[in-house]
Amino acid sequence: MCNVTRTNKSSTGNRAGKLSDKYRKISRMVIEEHLGRELSIFEIIHHIDGDRSNNEIENLQIMTREEHTSLHCAGRRKRIL
Ligand SMILES: [Zn+2]
Repeated sequence: MCNVTRTNKSSTGNRAGKLSDKYRKISRMVIEEHLGRELSIFEIIHHIDGDRSNNEIENLQIMTREEHTSLHCAGRRKRIL
């Protein structure tokens, strides 16, 4: 999913937001335990198979926000050239 657009008036999206937040916390805990250190806010956890509830260490990949955004959005953006 490509979630780079910001929605300011999202009173309806709160439930889904909390759910993905929970999964994100779990994946960070798994990675942090695996690495033996805390992740910085600049480190994003990518779920390799696209399933955010699959927090097996093999399914998690650390990348920067830029890498993560371009990974998910590459090819979606139409090139105007
Ligand atoms: Zn991802």
